[in-house]
Amino acid sequence: MSVSRKILLFGKNGQLGRELQRSLQPLGQVIALDVDSSEHAADFSRPQQLAETVRAVQPDWIINAAAYTAVDKAEGEPELAHAINAEAPGILAAEAERLGAWLLHYSTDYVFDGSGERPWTETDAPAPLNVYGRTKLEGEQRVVAACSRYLILRTSWVYGAYGSNFARTMLNLAQTRETLAVVDDQIGAPTSAMWLADLTAALIPLLERQPALAGLYHAVAAGETSWHGYAKFVIAQAKLMGWPVKVGDADIRTVSSSEFAAGARRPLNSRLDTTKLRAAFGIEPPDWRTGLTEMLKTGGGFLMRVTPTDIPEVLILSPNVFNDNRGYFCESFNQRTFRQLTGIDVRFVQENYSHSSKAVLRGLHYQIEHAQGKLIRVLQGRIYDVALDIRRYSPTVGKWVGVELCAEGLQQLWIPPGFAHGFMVLSDTADILYKTTDYYYPEHERCIRWNDPDLAIDWPTEMTPILSVRDENCSGYAQSPLYEMK
Ligand code: NDP
Repeated sequence: MSVSRKILLFGKNGQLGRELQRSLQPLGQVIALDVDSSEHAADFSRPQQLAETVRAVQPDWIINAAAYTAVDKAEGEPELAHAINAEAPGILAAEAERLGAWLLHYSTDYVFDGSGERPWTETDAPAPLNVYGRTKLEGEQRVVAACSRYLILRTSWVYGAYGSNFARTMLNLAQTRETLAVVDDQIGAPTSAMWLADLTAALIPLLERQPALAGLYHAVAAGETSWHGYAKFVIAQAKLMGWPVKVGDADIRTVSSSEFAAGARRPLNSRLDTTKLRAAFGIEPPDWRTGLTEMLKTGGGFLMRVTPTDIPEVLILSPNVFNDNRGYFCESFNQRTFRQLTGIDVRFVQENYSHSSKAVLRGLHYQIEHAQGKLIRVLQGRIYDVALDIRRYSPTVGKWVGVELCAEGLQQLWIPPGFAHGFMVLSDTADILYKTTDYYYPEHERCIRWNDPDLAIDWPTEMTPILSVRDENCSGYAQSPLYEMK
C-alpha cells in the first residue's frame, strides 16, 4: 500500500491520540476525530453512528485510541463504559471487515486479575477485576469476532505529555506537598504514549506486507516497577533537572492497595510479557525509565513551570523552550496548563503594552473595584517588578515581593487580583506586555507611594527613579484603601 493510505483516527485528543496525530502523519492522509468532531460523528457513547462515519471516510486503516479510561468512575457508569469500550470497537471492527480495512485497537493489562508474579502472555486467561477491565476485554473479543484484519495492542500505565496521568500528577503534587503516600504492591511498566504511537506507525507497513501477523500483542515498556518506584523515579529525575520539587526521597511513603481507598479494584500483577511482539516484528521495547526521562527533559509535558514566590499566590511562570537551528519556540501562555498546574481558572480580557526608558518607575497601581489579575512579561530589556499584597485579611497583607524579569529569561509573573503592582526599568529601555483579568477603570484606579518607608521596598537604589506626577503624589500604604476580598 502506498503513502496515499487513508487513516481514520478516533480519540485524537487523548494521551495516545495526540501522539498518533504526529506519528501517523507521514503514512498518509489522517482524518483525526474526537467526541466533539463536527465533520463526522465520533461519539462512542452512540456507537451506531460510527458505522456511518467509517462508510463516509472509507479508510484503509482505523486506529482506535478512544476509550472510557476513568477506571474508578467506570464502576458507577458501567453502561457508558460498555458502549465506549465494548460496543463501539465491535462496530468499528464490523465496518473494517465490510471495507476490507485494518483496525488497530488498544487494550489494557486490566483484563487480568493480577494474580501471581509472572508476566502475563497473550494466551493467559483474562479475568478482569473491575468494570473498566471487563468492558475493555469485551471490546477485544468483539474486535476479534468481527474482523480478520485487526491488531490489538494491550498496554499498561500509559503516560504522555498531554492529558492526565500518574507521572504528571506526581510532578504536580511534589511541587505543592511535603509528603506523598504511594501504592507499592501493584507492579507494572509505565509505558510512553509517544513510544506506543511510534510503534503503531512502524507496525502499519509491516502488517500490510505480512497480514498473517494480525492478532493480539502485549506492547509495554521493558522492566517493571511499582507505582511507588515510579513516583520516586519521576520525582528524583525532576529534581535533578531543576524542577522546584519540595518532596524528598524519604518523604515518599509506601501504602498498600488495601490501605489506599480507590473506587475500583486493580490488579497487583500488571506485568505483560512482550515476547510475541518482539519475535513477530523484531521490536525491542525501551526500558520504562527512558521515555519518562525524555518526557521530563522536554518539560514533563508541562509547557510551563510554575514557581511560587515568597507570597505563594504570586507565581513565576517559566515556559518550556524548544530550541533548534532556526531559533526557538515556546508557548508563552496556555490557559489549560495554567489551570492544571495552579488550579486557577483565569480569563484575560485586556492586554497592555508599555515602552519605558531606564530608571522609569511605574506604580504602585491597583483598582479598588474590578481588581485585575496580571500576567507580566518583558519583551525587550530588564525590569524589577513588584507585587504588594493589599487584600484585607490576607495573611500576607502589606507584604511585597520583587522579581527581576528580562526578555531573554522568558519568565512571566502572575499577580492575582488584590495586589498593587509596579516596576522599575533596569535596562536602557524596556518593553512590557501584560494581560489583565479585568478591564481598566480609571475611576477605580488607586496608587500607593513607591517609596513608602512602611513598605521598605527594595528597589534598585543606584538609580533615581523617573516618575509621573501622579506616581510622585500617591498616598502612603497606611492611607490607601485595601482591597476587600470577596
Ligand atoms: P485518554 O483517556 O487519554 O484518551 C481517551 C480518548 O477517548 C480521549 O480523547 C477521550 O476524549 C476519548 N473519549 C472518551 N469518551 C469518548 C466518547 N464518548 N466518544 C469519543 N471519544 C471519547 O486515554 P489514553 O490515550 O491513555 O488511552 C489510549 C488507549 O490505551 C485506550 O484504549 C486505553 O484503554 C488504553 N490503555 C490506557 C492506559 C492508561 O494508563 N491510560 C493503560 C492501558 C491501556 P475526551 O478527552 O474528550 O474525553
